[in-house]
Amino acid sequence: MAQKKQAAKKPIATKKAAVQKTERKTQPKTESKPSVSESELLLQSLRGMRDILPDEQPYWERVRRSISNAAQEYGYSRIEVPMVEYLHLFVRSIKEGTDIIDKELYSFTTRGGDRVALRPEFTAGIARAYIQHGMSVLPKPIKLFSMGPVFRYDRPQEGRYRELWQGNFDVFGEDDPILDAQVIQLAYRVVRELGLKDIEFQVNSIGVPESRKRYEKALVRYLESQKHKLCQNCRERLSTNPMRILDCKEDKCIQLTSQAPQALDFLDDESRAHFKSLLEYLDELELPYSINPRLVRGLDYYTRTVFEIWSSDREGKKYALGGGGRYDNLIQELGGEPTPAIGFGLGLDRIVLEMKRVHAKPHEPVRPRVFLAQLGDLAKKKSLRLFSDLEKNGILVAESFGRGSLKAQLRVASRLGVEVTIILGQKEALDETAIVKDMISGTQETVRQDKLTDAVKKILKSNVQLSHSSPKN
Ligand code: AMP
Repeated sequence: MAQKKQAAKKPIATKKAAVQKTERKTQPKTESKPSVSESELLLQSLRGMRDILPDEQPYWERVRRSISNAAQEYGYSRIEVPMVEYLHLFVRSIKEGTDIIDKELYSFTTRGGDRVALRPEFTAGIARAYIQHGMSVLPKPIKLFSMGPVFRYDRPQEGRYRELWQGNFDVFGEDDPILDAQVIQLAYRVVRELGLKDIEFQVNSIGVPESRKRYEKALVRYLESQKHKLCQNCRERLSTNPMRILDCKEDKCIQLTSQAPQALDFLDDESRAHFKSLLEYLDELELPYSINPRLVRGLDYYTRTVFEIWSSDREGKKYALGGGGRYDNLIQELGGEPTPAIGFGLGLDRIVLEMKRVHAKPHEPVRPRVFLAQLGDLAKKKSLRLFSDLEKNGILVAESFGRGSLKAQLRVASRLGVEVTIILGQKEALDETAIVKDMISGTQETVRQDKLTDAVKKILKSNVQLSHSSPKN
């Protein structure tokens, strides 16, 4: 125990040797290069990294909005942490023996000689910020949320990228299981609100380090005797991170571990009571959860509650959409005060994939109801000012300033289905007037430019009233 405390007090910036070892390990093997010339390569995004083009953005926008709204409703404050941190922060938090550190970390040495890494997840950076900025003096619980890209040098395929986006939630300063339940409720709220229905929540408890150690021993004892049946990776994990074997997707490993001892049977009394309360809260919330005794999560810092959110595609393809758990010792291990904490991350890329699969609605941007057309040099000059006056008055305006022909501009207006078209010709530009055409009734009038906003608003308002009073079919 005393020994453990000492280890916990070590400042973050130590363990040079471990860092160097990890750095060596995390230097990715050179990939076999595709046979394309250097100039062709310059015009391709890196493998596993992709552009999210405007066409796809409405889905992303809906997810981003949904996450931000939920965060606000549940009392989370936004925090931004850098994408790059000292390498040893991740090594100290997530630990060697995990895939994220051993195989997937993007790490490099800067020109100044600092060994740094791109964040593979948010929690380590947020825990660092919590300590660095003395947040422990703030009233508890402290709820923080962030959203952005993280980087993992994983083997790319559909739904698995090297740059991926996560929405991340962390709560510091409470160990009551009601927080665990509320965090799961929040994750559920986000995915349901996005229209994802076939969702499964898996929960488990992996206890505290002492009970975990006892469990790991029993697991290793069981697996050692049948080591030859494990895949090569898992044979290595047996000495580095045996619990990770439960996560392996290889059939032979799944078969072997299905009979393995379970973490739940090794829990200490407090962890067992904690888990029982959590389940009671989840029952009370009527959330569709199941207990998955194999669920351990890949990161080393978790204690007690762990959970994952899965899409349950009937065609057999399943994606983890998010996951998280308690990490009651992390802050102290990094050199801060003992601070219980819980958090989770949602994978935006996978959520977008799932939304498309179930035909969930993307975000619908507000469409402009007004078009501004101009004809002639003077009118063209004045049109930018007019556009900005209307926009300042809360009127969203579409335009096609680059086109000279009125006919071409009106074609755009009609394609957009606007309700009002404002036409500024040479004469109107000189008179400081504009023609306002009601596209629904077909009537038009010339109004003074300083009265333009009122005239446009009047038509838009009467259209809204009209659509409300018209019988529904
Ligand atoms: P993790 O903390 O590893 O469980 O990651 C949280 C969530 O991020 C996962 O449930 C996935 O939705 C998503 N995620 C993790 N790795 C990737 C990846 N390589 N590509 C896309 N999404 C990922």
